[in-house]
Amino acid sequence: MRQKLVIGNWKMHGSLAANAALLDGIKAAPARARLAVCAPFPYLAQCQATLAGTAIAWGAQDVSAEVRGAFTGEVAAPMLAEFGCAYVLVGHSERRSYHGETDATVATKALRALESGLTPVVCVGETLAQREAGETEAVVGRQLAAVVEALSIDQLGKIVLAYEPVWAIGTGKTATSEQAQAVHAYLRGQVASGSAAASADVAARMPILYGGSVKPDNAAELFSMSDIDGGLIGGASLKAEDFLAIGNA
Ligand code: PEP
Repeated sequence: MRQKLVIGNWKMHGSLAANAALLDGIKAAPARARLAVCAPFPYLAQCQATLAGTAIAWGAQDVSAEVRGAFTGEVAAPMLAEFGCAYVLVGHSERRSYHGETDATVATKALRALESGLTPVVCVGETLAQREAGETEAVVGRQLAAVVEALSIDQLGKIVLAYEPVWAIGTGKTATSEQAQAVHAYLRGQVASGSAAASADVAARMPILYGGSVKPDNAAELFSMSDIDGGLIGGASLKAEDFLAIGNA
């Protein structure tokens, strides 16, 4: 039985004061799902100080593919680990499209995260044009395959996968629960069909989150689908009430 997981992606939002109010609000009430927030780098210390000792985990939104060295502006996985991060997003569509991240880069980032004891939340998803061209499975399959190839089966068993159709992120358009379920089932099947003996077991245990305009009023239906194990939440994670409502959906 996979426990539901709901992760907030604050993107480039927040301030010390706004985060304090948001985190206090999230801490104030229990949620049925496991909760985590992925904050901008400068606020990781604040998350660590505010959330330590609570059931709420925190993480970052990106990590360098390098471990250390002359890479100005980059943040390495061991640094995230020092701030108590449990999770790091890799391959978010905004990183893929605005920062030119390739499938290979995303896979290396997932590997770096695992090497430092972090759980990478590997994001995959198709654009509207790709969906309309009938390429959804080919696109998400290719994005997933790069990660599967880069990791050992043990490492693959430690990732979280997130299906985020690009056309649903921040647009108010949500995939229907059937559309999302179909892609989640496809992704789980791809993991299960790997050559390692443990592939089917790893697939059965892998949390696969849905992301893309999840709100309190559509979360319950999405999360009721058999292969949807929770959500990656952008806009609605910035309001404690909404984030908690999704965590309880
Ligand atoms: C996201 O950025 O990962 C996301 C799902 O955003 P939103 O919930 O705002 O669509």
